[in-house]
Amino acid sequence: MKLLHRCVTVAVLIIFVGSVCHAQERRSQPKDTLLSGQTVVDLTHPFDRNTIYWPTEDGFDLIRGKAGVTDKGYYYSANRFQGAEHGGTHVDAPIHFYKDRQTVDAIPIQRLIGEGIVVDVSEACAQDADYQITIEDLRRWETEHQRQLVDVIVLLRTGNGKHWQQRERYLGTAARGPEAVAQLHFPGLEPSAAQWLAEHRAIKAIGIDTASIDFGQSRLFESHVNLFKHNIPAFENVANLDKLPTEKFQVIALPMKIGGGSGGPLRIIAMVPEQP
Ligand SMILES: [Zn+2]
Repeated sequence: MKLLHRCVTVAVLIIFVGSVCHAQERRSQPKDTLLSGQTVVDLTHPFDRNTIYWPTEDGFDLIRGKAGVTDKGYYYSANRFQGAEHGGTHVDAPIHFYKDRQTVDAIPIQRLIGEGIVVDVSEACAQDADYQITIEDLRRWETEHQRQLVDVIVLLRTGNGKHWQQRERYLGTAARGPEAVAQLHFPGLEPSAAQWLAEHRAIKAIGIDTASIDFGQSRLFESHVNLFKHNIPAFENVANLDKLPTEKFQVIALPMKIGGGSGGPLRIIAMVPEQP
């Protein structure tokens, strides 16, 4: 009996020590089951002094606070920031252009996570900075991929994203203030195409690599209105759309949850399956 007891004790000890070692190993090397076999593409521009905001807005401001070793011996740094809801990579909540529609904190998470697809109109946009994406462009994607635009996050690749570092090229003007708005030139989604998506398809959300879902020369922002009437949120100034395939990847787009906000800074990523 005594020997058996000792054996059991030793066995328990071995299991215990083994599990402690195992736990330590796991702590030092976190295993990533969610992202295994996936390439993550960050679709977010950084928020800093160069971040592009609408001409009527001040840019992003990081107000430096303390940074250094405290008198208690530990290091501490903390800053403050300020900026408009709509600037850099951000989401437009439906209430941005439609009364009594969802505020940013009320957008269902299900609309912000899901399969992404890319409609590539970069050739047409290279010819015409004021190009507006048509129903035909969207239908062409459907024909090529043999499926309808249903339950997907639609990302519009205009090619404008590659001009992000040059404000004048990206917006069509480097001018600021209310007068600059009339000088904006960049592609967008045609209002009839926005209406078609909202009424004849069932998309979760839409995003674009320009400063607005409506093209730069828009005066009535009708694509905003047509989408937001149906509570379809829009992502603007989306980065790195040139690094995505045209379907079969996942998007996670989580904005800052500003209570009652009309939009907000957005961290958006794509997870693209690695080829076997
Ligand atoms: Zn916006």
